[in-house]
Amino acid sequence: MKKGLLVVISGPSGVGKGTVREKFIDNPELNLAYSISMTSRERRKGERDGIDYFFVSRERFEEAIKNNELLEWTEFVGNYYGTPAENVESLRKLGKNVLLEIEVEGAIKVKEKCPDALTIFIIPPSMEELEKRIRGRRTEPEEIVQQRLGKANREMNMLSQYKYVVCNEDAELAAELISVIIKRHML
Ligand code: 5GP
Repeated sequence: MKKGLLVVISGPSGVGKGTVREKFIDNPELNLAYSISMTSRERRKGERDGIDYFFVSRERFEEAIKNNELLEWTEFVGNYYGTPAENVESLRKLGKNVLLEIEVEGAIKVKEKCPDALTIFIIPPSMEELEKRIRGRRTEPEEIVQQRLGKANREMNMLSQYKYVVCNEDAELAAELISVIIKRHML
């Protein structure tokens, strides 16, 4: 059986990665499985443990690092985020295309370990629009918003690390473009 693809999607916080993903993740032609990350951040309203993330304590996360359970991990505005390695490998061996939605440092580490990873970066139509979207969530204090904006600016300078760049002006269109890219790489 042909091993599944490893698809890595990044983009600054607030760019709408989740909204775009929801529009293509269940497309049967793409044969995708979403890699659920582990995080030590607080659960936001509406987020489900084991579906959106595995929400764990900092201690549990540090244990996962020590035990080599993670394909990659990073610290992002004060919280840990990481990709559990086991599922990624087993799903790919079963022929599934595995989708990681991670920030740039993590994507670079994945590329080092899996040079054949298909990397896609989602950009906002403008930085003003991105700030509006981050503030629109109204779930985080100003200090965190500022940190997310700073990180977003740094991430936008890392586009050259990615094979494809897709603009999320219209989520439907962005999802279609990503679907085309994945299908082309499945050939
Ligand atoms: P949020 O707190 O908004 O859910 O996520 C913050 C950032 O962490 C986003 O850019 C998201 O893509 C990234 N992220 C989520 N899971 C992982 C992961 O497992 N590893 C890495 N490196 N980044 C992640």
